[in-house]
Amino acid sequence: MLGHSVEIFEKSKFAKEVGAALGLTPNGSRVLATLGFSFESARAREVSSWDVVDGVTLQTLKSMDFTTARAQFGFPAYSVHRVDFHGELLRLAQKSGVAGEEPVTLHLASPVVSADAQEGLVVLQDGSHHHADLIIGADGIHSVLRPVVTGSLEKPRFTDLSAFRFLIPTNKMRDDPALDGLMKWKGTGAATLANPNDPFPKRHMMWYDCQDGEVQNFVGISHARDEPHEDSANPDFTAPMLEDFQAYHPDLRHVIKIAEDISCWPLMARDPLPSWTKGKIILVGDAAHPMLPFGGQGSNQAIEDAGALGIVLAGAENVTDIPGRLKVFEDVRINRASTIQILSTTRAGTEKSVEEALKQYVAPGTKVPGSLAERNWDAYSHNVLQAAAEALAAAKMLPDTSANHEDLFDLDQGHSLLLPAKKDFPGIQEVAPRAQSAV
Ligand SMILES: Cc1cc2nc3c(=O)[nH]c(=O)nc-3n(C[C@H](O)[C@H](O)[C@H](O)COP(=O)(O)OP(=O)(O)OC[C@H]3O[C@@H](n4cnc5c(N)ncnc54)[C@H](O)[C@@H]3O)c2cc1C
Repeated sequence: MLGHSVEIFEKSKFAKEVGAALGLTPNGSRVLATLGFSFESARAREVSSWDVVDGVTLQTLKSMDFTTARAQFGFPAYSVHRVDFHGELLRLAQKSGVAGEEPVTLHLASPVVSADAQEGLVVLQDGSHHHADLIIGADGIHSVLRPVVTGSLEKPRFTDLSAFRFLIPTNKMRDDPALDGLMKWKGTGAATLANPNDPFPKRHMMWYDCQDGEVQNFVGISHARDEPHEDSANPDFTAPMLEDFQAYHPDLRHVIKIAEDISCWPLMARDPLPSWTKGKIILVGDAAHPMLPFGGQGSNQAIEDAGALGIVLAGAENVTDIPGRLKVFEDVRINRASTIQILSTTRAGTEKSVEEALKQYVAPGTKVPGSLAERNWDAYSHNVLQAAAEALAAAKMLPDTSANHEDLFDLDQGHSLLLPAKKDFPGIQEVAPRAQSAV
């Protein structure tokens, strides 16, 4: 980070990361590109379309054209494997800044067990104490730092949902004669597969590829299982997943049968917080605003946090500057992330069901997103970097030297990345469903 000395204390050894991909939307891609993230090195796949498909008949019900995202929002949507995503973030964190700033120091296998917000202190499991002017709590939904900020030991609540996840090499599917029709039918875009007559309508499957198309990523959202399974040793979730998706097309069920290492995660939720800061600690990402998977914004909102934090801390030279800048950060982020956090509990097309809950987070006179198209527009068009720079300037914490604030960025790509979304564009468009070929 520009001009600051940063240390990361990470609980895991990064030895066995979750085998799963995630979707980056234009609002997240914008921040990553600005930081110099190489989508090519991360083997990210540009998402060309998103189909809504009947999971029983494989009939395409709706198609959304994502090829216009780059023209419209300045940045496309991508799918990326989490390991590649982390690897590229690590490369960025560990290189020196363009002006010769120190790389970030990463300490693996270093769980934080407690913290003191006034002292600016974290204590690790090995008993060591570490002080900092600012502690960024990015430790996920089970955050250790969150209770220090909120003063509440409230745990995340189990929802009525769990998520099966697995990856399959594309070649394994292509080489399987039983999947010949399915592989010819599937294009390169993302697909949501759902049974329109499902008594549990939140159940669905997501399917998209990653790693330059060499790996296919599947997520199956279904009802909560009796017990959380994430800690069980090598459980086999093939049978439970087949049972939950028994109504689905035989080809999809065949994919489940040949999958290895199906994992199952209970999905948990928390309500929005009124503040993410206490003393020298600020919460970001899932620690502050965990999301359910509807809308695919959890990581994208964590990325927006990172982009905004980088901007508001740019040029902060004294410790006494920090509280005012964190206030600006909260002003830029809390309403935005809380809106998306609430929307993340509701599946596509049912946005109206949370309209009342959203109103308190939406500025007077601003439309509450009430449909999938409005929700996508609201999520994808947001330029968090611009919003943070403008808020900092309005708070008179920024010398007004630059019209577009690009001097705030540690840019190494040399091009303008502050393109606003084009308001005269109509949003991601629904197009005629793709023609069906043999399945
Ligand atoms: C099924 C599913 C699909 C999803 N798909 C998408 C998607 O397509 N797009 C999207 O944007 N989001 C998606 N998400 C959400 C996304 O995964 C999360 O929002 C995102 O990972 C949050 O990032 P984070 O860095 O805040 O937290 P995490 O990813 O949880 O990272 C927290 C880190 O902190 C470390 N840590 C935890 N405790 C400690 C401690 N005590 N000391 C030190 N380190 C600690 C952990 O080891 C971990 O590395 C999905 C989620 C699920 C469940």
